[in-house]
Amino acid sequence: MRILRATHLGWCFGVRDAVALVANEDRHGHVAVLGELVHNETVNNALRAQGVQLTRDLDEVRADTVVVTAHGLSDTALARVRERVPRVLDATCPLVQRAHRAMRQLVADGFHPVVIGKHDHVEVRGLTEDLVEFDVVLADEDVRLLAPRWRYGVVAQTTQPVERVARLVEAIRQRFPESEVRFVDTVCRPTKQRQAAAIALAQQCDAVVVIGGRQSNNTRELAETCAQFCRRVFRVESVEELDATWFAESETVGVTAGTSTPDKVIDAVEQWLWALASQHAHGVAA
Ligand code: SF4
Repeated sequence: MRILRATHLGWCFGVRDAVALVANEDRHGHVAVLGELVHNETVNNALRAQGVQLTRDLDEVRADTVVVTAHGLSDTALARVRERVPRVLDATCPLVQRAHRAMRQLVADGFHPVVIGKHDHVEVRGLTEDLVEFDVVLADEDVRLLAPRWRYGVVAQTTQPVERVARLVEAIRQRFPESEVRFVDTVCRPTKQRQAAAIALAQQCDAVVVIGGRQSNNTRELAETCAQFCRRVFRVESVEELDATWFAESETVGVTAGTSTPDKVIDAVEQWLWALASQHAHGVAA
């Protein structure tokens, strides 16, 4: 059995920087994180064990320093935090900030804002909360429900699959051929790299393990992308969930991971697979 690792996988720089910021602050006093710093329970539990408070509710914050996660907040929400807490550290990823700027510019230029993404995702809430009116679309059906406008300004949640984004932009153009549709590609580079690497990986493998938190949107998207090219895709949060029988017939197993998965979790999964490969090589049954 061969084990292949995707050429791009795991923590992106946005998540890495946010985690480093909290780890550094933690040494100086009480810190609260508003929301999930990373959609990964292993990381979140480690932070809790260090005394970092994780909460979605500003009213519950007990620390005097609050960290805004890489997903960002709307200006309204950020102002509310600044009113309530003496010290705010903004770990919003620069590529999320870029999406905010793109959205603001489109609105300033007179376009009706449309976000391609998940309605209830924290990043999409941050992008839309300051707007008077907007639409969020995730599927062709959502495009069919759009009201007619003369000008649509479209951005994407940074972790959306590029092919879905391209398809939905085209669907808007086809549905409203008389309208001007301006699209700013805000899918982030680490997401594009991970998706492209996952496709290349899945095409070479007869089984793929996708590692990531259950709440992680980009991990789910990665698993769905892999499933288009490989019939056997297993999504796990940690090494403990692996099952040797999944790989009994496998010749080539791929490993990839979402942007919220820490290196040590990926390494543990890979080592487990290498150990299994060694058993197969020596004729030990699963
Ligand atoms: S997934 Fe992209 S936008 Fe989100 S934190 Fe990582 S680099 Fe930034």
